Amino acid sequence: MTGSAPDATSFELDQLDFDNRFTHQLPADPIEANAVRQVEGAAFSRVAPTPVAAPRTIAWSPELAAQLGLDAAEIESEDFAQVLAGNRVPAGAEPFAMAYGGHQFGNWAGQLGDGRAIALGEVLDVDGAHQTLQLKGAGPTPYSRTADGRAVLRSSIREFLCSEAMYHLGIPTTRALSLVTTGDQVVRDMLYDGNAAPEPGAVVCRVAPSFIRFGTFELPASRGDTALLRQLVDYTMRVDYPHAPDVQTWFREICERTARLVVDWMRVGFVHGVLNTDNMSILGLTIDYGPYGWLEDFDPGWTPNTTDARERRYRYGAQPHVAQWNLAQLAAALMPLVGDVEPLRESLEHYADVYDDCFGQMLARRLGWDTPLAGDSDLTAELFRVLTSTEIDQVIFFRRLALVDLDPDQELSDAELLAPLTEAFYRPEEVRGDIERDLVAWLRSWSERVLEGGVEDDEQRRAEMDAVNPKFVLRNWLAQEAIDLAEAGDYTRITELLDVLRRPYAEQPSREHFAQRRPEWARTRVGSSMLSCSS
Ligand code: AMP
Ligand code: MG
Repeated sequence: MTGSAPDATSFELDQLDFDNRFTHQLPADPIEANAVRQVEGAAFSRVAPTPVAAPRTIAWSPELAAQLGLDAAEIESEDFAQVLAGNRVPAGAEPFAMAYGGHQFGNWAGQLGDGRAIALGEVLDVDGAHQTLQLKGAGPTPYSRTADGRAVLRSSIREFLCSEAMYHLGIPTTRALSLVTTGDQVVRDMLYDGNAAPEPGAVVCRVAPSFIRFGTFELPASRGDTALLRQLVDYTMRVDYPHAPDVQTWFREICERTARLVVDWMRVGFVHGVLNTDNMSILGLTIDYGPYGWLEDFDPGWTPNTTDARERRYRYGAQPHVAQWNLAQLAAALMPLVGDVEPLRESLEHYADVYDDCFGQMLARRLGWDTPLAGDSDLTAELFRVLTSTEIDQVIFFRRLALVDLDPDQELSDAELLAPLTEAFYRPEEVRGDIERDLVAWLRSWSERVLEGGVEDDEQRRAEMDAVNPKFVLRNWLAQEAIDLAEAGDYTRITELLDVLRRPYAEQPSREHFAQRRPEWARTRVGSSMLSCSS
């Protein structure tokens, strides 16, 4: 670690035009010392990043850099690596850590806050929109509790890649501008089993219009601080929801955004892994990429998070319900501000309706028709039953379903119907007997349904299905391959993988490797399909 303090004046970045609304319009913690404490009556604490030994930018997002008006030479410069690591604070930045609380695994956990993320401030992007730049892993803050404020390379690679992958899938998310190695070691006990070891450290520059979470409102509400609660609500409504006339309408929109977000996750097979209320964005963005995972075989009970292995609270199939539970905690926090709580309760029910509607539409498009019909529910229920009868990769199954020929004259053999899908089978030897028979029977019903009311033109139907059934997602084992290589000093795979994930719905013939089902080595590999919260 270098001993020097961040230098606020020597670095000029004309490209970054700061306009810090959050710190100017909300109350600051009056204590400036960077010591762990309970912070009351304030939305944030001013805190500078702690410098690191040897920052080096190893990957960055071209789309996001362009959105922020940065060109390749600038972002790849050594000076800019100093900024992205927190060693130099650019002019106009006013670094701070946000205060928030949260329900963790169903229990109120009190104050949490940015324990290792330090925001530099808000910059105006090329469209004039505000974007908060936040350095994750930039050192301790008043909210670090007992931890070190740092992040390891493996979890930073995962956050960097997944943020951008999600963006390119068209799913609302916080973004990642850059991935910088720090040259420092960070000690972690990866499996919480007493085997702590040093690992390379890293900082990700996260970017979002707002990092406000459900827990931002829960914290003042839990303390009976209605004045601060009101300030935070007024601020968020003014800045991010200027069209919402009152708190009830605002909450209803948060419910809708959250419902749509979870439908998107279910479509692509994303399992967040730690859906605590401090990890729920008030903008309906995917936020806080920790022990997330991507569903491989279609198992609604699967969670990547070993810390949650017993209860499986945050398993794939529970996400819609858990998000609603989290919204209910937000509603409870908002109660002191509304005379009539009935609209909040109605909005929670509305969440379920929006979710069901959007889920039905999403499934219809994935299967090749525009509008769901009442009679589809038997067909889709049977699909989900068949998908769980043996290990079937859900991404490959849906993607390749578009390749299955329709069979108007009932001429195709079972083998011909099944052929395009065999790549999705983790245990091909199991696809025999009843399982095979049921799968084929389902495909024949599906084919009939498409012929009755699907998109008529074959080519058009396939293109429309491809547009919602990604070919490339950040498979757990792909992230792990990139991490293994990076820990051995080869960072090229990170950029290569990012490049593939920039066009997730396109065929990329030279890149079939990145669309393959999980290889056997990764079935039980720690870090691939099994992750803890250690990061
Ligand atoms: P998460 O599980 O990432 O949502 O984090 C929960 C809380 O722990 C948040 O307040 C984080 O800021 C904090 N936290 C996680 N890791 C660290 C760390 N290495 N140092 C300080 N705080 C941390
Ligand atoms: Mg968090």
